[in-house]
Amino acid sequence: MTETIETLLPGETLGLLGGGQLGRMFAQAAAQMGYHVLVLEPSNPSPAGEVSCAQIAAAYDDTTALDEMSRAVRAVTTEFENVPATSLEHLARLGVRTAPHADAVAVTQDRNREKAFAESAGVPTAPHAGICAESDWENVTEDLFPGILKTARLGYDGKGQVRVDSKADARKAWEALDRTDCILEKRLNLAKEISVIVCRNQAGSRAVFPVAENHHRNGILAYTVLPARISPEIAKMAQRYAERIVDAFGYVGVLCLEFFVLEDGSIVLNEMAPRPHNSGHATIEACVSSQYDQQVRAMTGLPLGSTALKTPAVMLNLLGDLWFDEAGHYRTPDWAALCSIPGLKLHLYGKEQARHARKMGHATVVGQTLEEALERAKAAAEMLSLPFAGEL
Ligand code: ATP
Ligand code: MG
Repeated sequence: MTETIETLLPGETLGLLGGGQLGRMFAQAAAQMGYHVLVLEPSNPSPAGEVSCAQIAAAYDDTTALDEMSRAVRAVTTEFENVPATSLEHLARLGVRTAPHADAVAVTQDRNREKAFAESAGVPTAPHAGICAESDWENVTEDLFPGILKTARLGYDGKGQVRVDSKADARKAWEALDRTDCILEKRLNLAKEISVIVCRNQAGSRAVFPVAENHHRNGILAYTVLPARISPEIAKMAQRYAERIVDAFGYVGVLCLEFFVLEDGSIVLNEMAPRPHNSGHATIEACVSSQYDQQVRAMTGLPLGSTALKTPAVMLNLLGDLWFDEAGHYRTPDWAALCSIPGLKLHLYGKEQARHARKMGHATVVGQTLEEALERAKAAAEMLSLPFAGEL
């Protein structure tokens, strides 16, 4: 017997755990479709709270706050993966629909579980070994070096990662990380880094976005090119893997998968995020439905929208560094000049305090062709003196 899923129609209030920029863009998409958003986020004001109808300023695991949310909404989503899975479980027990569900979030919060899950779904990963106890070193073979030791939980933007060249090195690094649960991965030669965003609804329909090509600097995403400059075969393979993973999870919501393209054209999964992703920002301008539109549709039970590419695009992250000149003095970037670039859309997240490496906003630049989008993005990057302007 197939369960009928009630569609939550516009006019309803949707719950959001987390108040950052991904939540802000979710709330904007929800508002566009006539929904109200209630945010749970301890920092107040917050990027998402500022554009939502209300914010509960409490910790993500505050049960009184979760109870309050459960009385106001019938569905909840998240905008950052370190929302405790127990909070989602708590809400689900109270009868709130959670998209994604707690089990999938718990898997993606642990790099060892994430890799094991991917492999069980038939999706390859980099050679690795879980390092959670002294005895795990017995399984570490020389072919994992040179490697990267990563903390299993709570890493982002390259934090909690150490490059290691030998087992002795890796052991030292593990001690320095207080023997916290880690994963040791073989360091691969990457031809490209790509990501795929996929969404799935309760009825099992899925929609996959075009593959994005990602470029990092100092461990942080610097810019994304959409669509990725890869062969159609590689793109199809990445999309097929993404579909396998959401089916294996019985996932409801938006999931991002980051892949490495190796020199032989094969791909391996790096990691997943159970939410919209920085590399999907450009879907707002470039696709018929954005990753945020899909998040709204998936959680409410509306049919998923078209992920078709309307225009090629390049997304530039705007980090807090832009607010400081060479002497370290605070300044406001010249937004008016930036907005004079044809095809450029400016997104700022409303964060008051600019800090080094903090994601303050992004610019998406579209063009008739990818070459035109890249040229315009290069002009924008030069105007902002972004260090990677020459790569574009
Ligand atoms: P983010 O939050 O930006 O996704 P993160 O802290 O979660 O980053 P990873 O995505 O695991 O960390 O790694 C960050 C970057 O380090 C990758 O984008 C890639 O450039 C490099 N890297 C990670 N693992 C490997 C590997 N096994 N081989 C080669 N390079 C790697
Ligand atoms: Mg990553």
